[in-house]
Amino acid sequence: MTGINYRDKYLELEEKYKQLENELKMLKSGKNNFPVSTKKAINDSQVIGKVPPDLSNIVNCYLISFKYGDDKKFHILEINKKVEEIESVNRNELVGKCINETPLAKRKKLNELLNHINKHKIPVSVTGDDSEGFYVGFILTSGHIIIIWEPGRDQKIADEIYKQSVLFHEFAEFMPEIMYEVDLNGKVVFGNKTGLEFFGLTQEDLDKNLSIADLFPEMADDMLRNVLALNSPGDILINEYILKSHDGIPTPIVTRTYPIFHEGKKIGYRGTANDTSKHKNIETEVIKQKAFIENLVNSTTEAIVITDPAGRVVMINREFHKLFGYTFDEAINQNIYDMIVPERLKDDAIAITKFITPYQQETRETIRKDKFGNEIQVSLVATGISIDEKIVGNIAIYKNITIEKKNQVLQEILYNISSAALTQVDVDKLYPLIVKELGKIWDTNNFFIALYEKKSETVSLPFFSDEKDSFNEIPINKTITGYLIKTNQSVLLKENDMRQLEQAGEIDLVGTDCKVWMGVPLRVENDVIGVMCLQDYNDENKFTKDDLNVLDFIANHIAVAIQRRITLDNLITARQKAEDAAQSKQLFMSTMSHEIRTPLNEVIGITNLLLQDNPREDQMDFIKTLRFSGNHLLTLVNDVLDYNKMESGKIVFEQTQFNLNDFLDEIMRSYSFRSKAKHLDFTIKKEGDLPAEVIGDQIRLNQILSNLLSNALKFTKRGGITVTIKELERKNKKANLQFSVRDTGIGIPDEMHEAIFESFTQASADTTRRFGGTGLGLAICKKLVELQGGKIHVISELGLGSTFIFNLFLEVPDESVKANEVKTVESYSYVGLEGKKILIAEDNKINFFVTNKFLTGWGIIVTHAENGQLAIEKIQQEDFDLVLMDLHMPIMDGIEATRRIRESSDPKIKNIPIVALTAAIMSENHDKIEKLNINDYVLKPFKPHDLFERIKKHIR
Ligand code: ADP
Repeated sequence: MTGINYRDKYLELEEKYKQLENELKMLKSGKNNFPVSTKKAINDSQVIGKVPPDLSNIVNCYLISFKYGDDKKFHILEINKKVEEIESVNRNELVGKCINETPLAKRKKLNELLNHINKHKIPVSVTGDDSEGFYVGFILTSGHIIIIWEPGRDQKIADEIYKQSVLFHEFAEFMPEIMYEVDLNGKVVFGNKTGLEFFGLTQEDLDKNLSIADLFPEMADDMLRNVLALNSPGDILINEYILKSHDGIPTPIVTRTYPIFHEGKKIGYRGTANDTSKHKNIETEVIKQKAFIENLVNSTTEAIVITDPAGRVVMINREFHKLFGYTFDEAINQNIYDMIVPERLKDDAIAITKFITPYQQETRETIRKDKFGNEIQVSLVATGISIDEKIVGNIAIYKNITIEKKNQVLQEILYNISSAALTQVDVDKLYPLIVKELGKIWDTNNFFIALYEKKSETVSLPFFSDEKDSFNEIPINKTITGYLIKTNQSVLLKENDMRQLEQAGEIDLVGTDCKVWMGVPLRVENDVIGVMCLQDYNDENKFTKDDLNVLDFIANHIAVAIQRRITLDNLITARQKAEDAAQSKQLFMSTMSHEIRTPLNEVIGITNLLLQDNPREDQMDFIKTLRFSGNHLLTLVNDVLDYNKMESGKIVFEQTQFNLNDFLDEIMRSYSFRSKAKHLDFTIKKEGDLPAEVIGDQIRLNQILSNLLSNALKFTKRGGITVTIKELERKNKKANLQFSVRDTGIGIPDEMHEAIFESFTQASADTTRRFGGTGLGLAICKKLVELQGGKIHVISELGLGSTFIFNLFLEVPDESVKANEVKTVESYSYVGLEGKKILIAEDNKINFFVTNKFLTGWGIIVTHAENGQLAIEKIQQEDFDLVLMDLHMPIMDGIEATRRIRESSDPKIKNIPIVALTAAIMSENHDKIEKLNINDYVLKPFKPHDLFERIKKHIR
């Protein structure tokens, strides 16, 4: 209330008046001297201005304006409300009056100021002190005088007190607590809204000078006595009273009272009162909440620790104690990093707190250690606790995941063992792998796997590792291993348990005593195939019940893995055996065929000789039939062998040129005789133009047709058999020739049309009994046709006959003569080899006899060697124009002999033409023959002109 701002306002207004005044002055052209004394100044000027009425409204401080009247007296022009208030006057009684006629005449100092307005400011108090403030006067250009009042020190203090109390009251209205002010006598000067409401009072009640004695009759004395102790500023008194609230409920109230001072004198009290019943409830609530949270924290299965920002433990829960072994007292205030973080992970652990914020958790899997130094795999969730965005601590939640991890490792182990069981070739290689895998969870220094041989009641040790003992075999009787096998039980035995079992006569202890023995049976389904065991010589707590369960679980898988491997090994061995057996069978067949074919060749050879010797006409047919039967028998032997060969995929087809006409004549000759014998017609029909010469496997074609014709003959009683050949197509010099064999026999039921081409299948169950046969013929035909790119099928109707149709692709040589052109076999002339020297290497006397007969008949000079070695010797001694080499011979076979000849340094020997004589149309020798560097070969039994041609072609 310095008034200084108002003064500025006055000056501002005055500025306006000045302007007005100047304007007037200009009008009057008079001079204007600013007055030294009020009176003079007023005298000198024409008074025009006056305080505008709005000024009083703007200004709410003390403001009076005067006019210096002609009567030399000061007349009151205007007073404002403040003046009315301060001077306790009424405006209407003052305005327009001379000051002397008003109560203001008593205001000595005001009058003094008016008379000496140039003094500007004088104290109100007659003693001249500032206790009553100051009058401040201004003279306006209008000559009017304005007096305002400035407060003095006392007023300022009072103001200050007032201001404080206003502040206090206003502030108090916002407060949720009860706030009050009482004077020294206990009169309630102020109570805030909360207070009034609490006690059920109104402002009006307070205005009626309500005292604390009125409010709390029984307690007022105490209260006043208590506050007497408050003697200096800053003292605070805290009291607890039970006061009745508006609804009559006694309520615990805590008051905090402090004194208010003025000029060092205590003038009253202010304070706050709290209804502590609420606090009490909150306190109980907080305690409840705390207990709730503590319970919650303690009942989780996660270990929880709260630390301050420096890492000191503030709280741990029960699980933390369980997991890490520290009690609450041991843990509190300790550094968490020192307690549970392994040295090597400390930096990492400390770094975690850097990542976390109250909004962000840090999660990871890591390792911590317990009080005893045991490492534990844990999952960790760390988060910050913050108050006002500031981290005040950290919470870390740990979960023991050692078992989870172990399970993970277990899965891995099982996978590795199972897959090894499938891929490892040898079961013995599986055991070290099992040990290596189990080493991931246990110390396997003392570990063995024992396999139980039921029949012999023995146990073998495919894997045994022990620090103290060494066994190759465990006697099953009365060992723990045996006990396990017998009882089909998993056991975890400590030293004592073993003793007890020994005393009970269940086991006899062998080897060095161990502290703990953990063993499980290896079971496959209900069979115990062995035992797996881990031991420890030092720590009886090395393995737990959990370990036993795990080992048991693994054992089941390992048992299956071992069993599977053993089974696989057995299968492999069995397959090997089967392969060996198949090979020996083939060898047997090959040998047998040779044995059978040799005499057959002789029969056929001699038959050929007889034919050569111009037999009588009536003998001719017999000899030819003899030759046919020989050939048929030979085909039969070859059938069996062939089928084996074809089964093993080892068949190779000849690609030699032959005359189709000759071939068909031969067929005609063979089968017309046999047909005639059964009174059946036999016809060969050549349809259209056929190539005369073709390249292919004549023997195989013969084999196919022979099979079909034999069947036709076999299954036909009347009617006839017709063979038809026609060329379906010619492409790239390949003739697609179709052969069909039609009979008027018993026919084949529809449902058997496909099955009869399977091996060992016949159309009806009594076929063999009625017609003989093996069911192999058609299977061979089908294979032979298909392997050469052709197809075979049958068209047949039961009782009407069957037609077997197949096609083959045969190459047609360039200068092919038409097959239909007549060419007689019999007119062949054997000339051109007379005087040539040929060595026949042949061990079989009859074969030599036959061959020799032909060769000498053709004028050839023949030398005989009985085996390969003799042949080589003969060649070294004599010159020959050609060697006919049998491949199968004792001492040295034709293959070896040929090889040696071809390796000779003497060009004469080295280049000697060799034509092999071989009964083996089978492929087992085919490869060898290819590699031999022979010039040609003739199959036994040979056709004379074929042999002649080959010799003639190669002889030197
Ligand atoms: P096999 O004649 O040695 O029994 P095949 O494989 O040659 O064996 O013939 C299988 C079966 O097909 C014969 O047993 C017979 O039941 C039937 N079959 C073959 N050819 C004829 C045919 N021309 N007429 C009637 N049935 C035939």
